[in-house]
Amino acid sequence: MRITDIILKKRNGEKLSKEEIEFAVLNFASGKIPDYQFAAFLMAIYFQKLDKSETLALTRAMINSGNVIDLSGIKGVKVDKHSTGGVGDKTSLIVGPLVAAAGIKIAKLSGRGLGHTGGTIDKLESISGFSVEMTEQQFFKNVNEIGIAIGGQTSELVPADKKIYALRDVTCTVENISLIAGSIMSKKIASGADKIVLDVKVGDGAFMNAPEDAFALGKEMVEIGEGMGKETIAVITDMNQPLGNAIGNSLEVIEAIETLKGNGPDDLHTLCMEVSAHMMIVSGLVKNKVEAMARLEKSISSGAAFNKFRQWIAAQGGDVKQINDTSKLPASEFSGEVIATQDGFVHKIGARKIGLASVVLGAGRETKESKIDFGAGIYLHKKVGDPVKKGESLAKMYSGQKEKLSATKEMILSAYTILPGAPKKNPLIYGTVSKAGEVVYK
Ligand code: URA
Repeated sequence: MRITDIILKKRNGEKLSKEEIEFAVLNFASGKIPDYQFAAFLMAIYFQKLDKSETLALTRAMINSGNVIDLSGIKGVKVDKHSTGGVGDKTSLIVGPLVAAAGIKIAKLSGRGLGHTGGTIDKLESISGFSVEMTEQQFFKNVNEIGIAIGGQTSELVPADKKIYALRDVTCTVENISLIAGSIMSKKIASGADKIVLDVKVGDGAFMNAPEDAFALGKEMVEIGEGMGKETIAVITDMNQPLGNAIGNSLEVIEAIETLKGNGPDDLHTLCMEVSAHMMIVSGLVKNKVEAMARLEKSISSGAAFNKFRQWIAAQGGDVKQINDTSKLPASEFSGEVIATQDGFVHKIGARKIGLASVVLGAGRETKESKIDFGAGIYLHKKVGDPVKKGESLAKMYSGQKEKLSATKEMILSAYTILPGAPKKNPLIYGTVSKAGEVVYK
């Protein structure tokens, strides 16, 4: 087999065999196929797409590129949660300790920032000393004793995805249902959890812009999960504006801490409760959503969820002093306000533009090699539906490089649509997809 034949076949819109997909993925993972050829292969997939059986073959090939974790050494039901990625999406930082405090075992592997979206690991690494590098033994011990551990992708687990993910990030081949479904589900299946809850984002700041595409991605992932024997549910949620108010690594850690203490922004709190409730239900710990919500509210109000967060961060080497006093977290040297130029109501905040602006400020990577400025980012003072007066601050920017502030200010201003009269807001949660079918919330 030759990679050039496989690229050509897909470029011409033909269906690939399971063997051809496996050949491409495994030889790229082992370094036998260079980046430039695999980049061409990804672009061919991007335009010509993969059908259901090709997507399944891609997912299996990615899983076969490495080891599959056996979590049977961890007692209790292991539930994994994954978001397809968005702007200001710090839900894993909240949902993880929240459900762990309620008795669910979280043995999770997370990713880094991709494109205009942030990554859980980058956020957690803004806490001094925090590390996702652990032996398997340590990972198991933490989950058994604390109820939660988050690791990074090791070179043994889906090594193909680590390489493909990084290449997609810099070749504009991220937004493809099969590539996203294969990337996420290979990691979820190889990570060994018993049940999977997916948060599929939809909107301007997500990889899927239209609700029907997000439902299609949810369906594809649920089918892969169920086809591999894992109960899987997808919650379709809004990303037409950033989630919460903070975008950027340490800024998001601070907002996650506030949410765990019960002081978070409404949208972030509601979304975390919804995703957590589904995790509680699939785990069998509760009978229904009402019972789940009551247990979760109690975890927050009693301080159990925040204590679990502290315990988890400490177990992975993080400096708890920074958690107890968040002013000790990395902060950027320079800041500036984005000022409204007219009166009205916020109708839209282009999440993608805000995500890109945060990357320019230093919160994400512009190339594979870029270093992250942990304190950089944006804090939104105004969200969709808020009234605005000319001269008020819409958002605050943070960066380690002063010159980035003026470059970014216009991007942020242009992300805001301010019009007279209150807008009609998008739903925060559109519905769910499970084996039983789609449920669209009204
Ligand atoms: N998250 C992933 O893990 N993979 C993708 O392709 C997109 C989001």
